[in-house]
Amino acid sequence: MPKSSAEVAIVGAGPIGLELAVRLKTAGIDSLHFDARQIGYTISWFAPQTRFFSSNERIAIAGVPLQTAYQTKCTQEQYLAYLRSIVLQFDLKINTYEPVVNVQRAGAEFVLTTRPADGQRTYRVRKLVLATGGTAKPRRLNVPGEDLPHVSHYFSDPHAFFQKDVLIVGGRNSAVEAALRSHYCGARVSISYRRAQFDAASIKYWLLPEMNGLIQSGKIKGYFKTTVKEIRPGGAALEREDGPPIDVSADFVLALIGYEADMTLCRLAGVELKEPGQVPAFDPVTMETNVPGIYVAGTAIAGTQAKYAVFIENCHVHAERILASLTGAKPPPAPATLERPES
Ligand code: NAP
Repeated sequence: MPKSSAEVAIVGAGPIGLELAVRLKTAGIDSLHFDARQIGYTISWFAPQTRFFSSNERIAIAGVPLQTAYQTKCTQEQYLAYLRSIVLQFDLKINTYEPVVNVQRAGAEFVLTTRPADGQRTYRVRKLVLATGGTAKPRRLNVPGEDLPHVSHYFSDPHAFFQKDVLIVGGRNSAVEAALRSHYCGARVSISYRRAQFDAASIKYWLLPEMNGLIQSGKIKGYFKTTVKEIRPGGAALEREDGPPIDVSADFVLALIGYEADMTLCRLAGVELKEPGQVPAFDPVTMETNVPGIYVAGTAIAGTQAKYAVFIENCHVHAERILASLTGAKPPPAPATLERPES
């Protein structure tokens, strides 16, 4: 019989959910762990060989060093392999592909309803940690044609764009990195950004000069102060404040305009969510929300972020704080503010 109750349940098997699972296991606290998909799911949709901006020691979890062969920052593939190794090393049991679809209080417990492929199950736990991340789904343009087959909200493998016209929408790291990689892969790249220029504070300093140089030399076409009005097969219409609309040829359109958190479980559990961004109410010392017994961890603590300030690298302390709250130990001191977050 699969286990149907535990002291604690963790929802979300990204880096911080896994880090907490290791801490609970090491402390001998009985737990259940669920993820709607595979572990590290949101990392698995990065384009092949995407390197993390954060250095390895900042995204290593549970005290396990993260080494790469040539001291480079970790790729998506290396990090997923590392996360799998953590699961194996600590013999973590994770109910993957088992989304939690409801949370209800029943006396001193919570009843979780899950919906795996073969039906519906219920579990009873005394404490619940929501580590559901901040990038569950892409932000949408909300324009006609957005769901056409040549439009994507993810940057997949740039090989697909070789000798094709690609229109990238957005103006920060995802859009710029995708534009550079697609250009070097042999695509004819255009980028539509709603502002007059890129913001140096929002784009990695090693990407921005290269991007500006390629636009200035005409190798990448930059359409600044434009927004997408409509997408159709083979192209898109861009609207601009200071002139008539522009028709841009596009075999592919990549809308890389950021991501949104899915705070549904917090809402169902009665956690107060503040706008903008549906930020959960929680005590930063214990990570416990306004609902006693329900905690938040990882980037979920910031809901949907308009400007990213919470990343893997500054969330490790959440696992320590939740463990301290569960065991009655003294919470660890607040970590020093990251002077220069790398994510
Ligand atoms: P982001 O930082 O949220 O940027 C979204 C971009 O889309 C912004 O330029 C924004 O414009 C624009 N935008 C938002 N809504 C729009 C709309 N309705 N219409 C047109 N444009 C719109 O998202 P991101 O670039 O995907 O980055 C997300 C996080 O991932 C960041 O922390 C980033 O550093 C990280 N990242 C990491 C890597 C890596 O590790 N290799 C690669 C890429 C990204 P405004 O600028 O005007 O707000």
